[in-house]
Amino acid sequence: MSKEFKHVSESEVTISELMLPSHSNFNGKIHGGYILSLLDQIAFACASKHSGQYCVTASVDTVDFLRPIEIGELVTMKASVNYVGTSSMVIGIRVEAENIQTGESKHCNSSYITMVAKDKNGKGTKVPGLILSRRKSVLRFLKSMKRTQLKRKRDEEFHHIDFDSAEFQKELEKYRVQVELND
Ligand code: GDP
Repeated sequence: MSKEFKHVSESEVTISELMLPSHSNFNGKIHGGYILSLLDQIAFACASKHSGQYCVTASVDTVDFLRPIEIGELVTMKASVNYVGTSSMVIGIRVEAENIQTGESKHCNSSYITMVAKDKNGKGTKVPGLILSRRKSVLRFLKSMKRTQLKRKRDEEFHHIDFDSAEFQKELEKYRVQVELND
């Protein structure tokens, strides 16, 4: 039988990978898409460990590429569960890249990916609760709750069927956009 609650530490995952020339884009930096694919893999591993189930990616929140990653750098990704809902889990991932020659490390991005646990029939299935034994984990749980609430609010704001662009006209004037509706 699976546990009712699990410690954050039970599903922590760390991966390190050397950045090869084959992962670079046209200007010699590591391609963002490749980093996204690694983020998805580590989020999958972490969520699967926590839930003990097959997991799928539901959404990716805030992937800011803070600094470019160079060929030859050693990238380390550290992931842990920040938040659990019923069948969903938010996995936080910190990405750092190390220059192997100098030993210097830089923070490249922090991402938050929502994964959902599925049963054998592809239906969402309940995941264990989280035991928060460090202040940092409590803070991460609260921050994740806040992000979810803000996202819900944002979705609601733009979801009404009677959307009237005139309402936003004034606001849009501040941006580099021209509204030329033809519908
Ligand atoms: P934070 O979310 O505000 O704490 O921002 P950070 O950039 O420090 O970390 C981003 C996420 O990466 C965190 O929410 C954690 O889920 C994960 N993380 C950070 N440090 C570690 C670590 O030392 N080990 C593991 N397993 N995960 C980490």
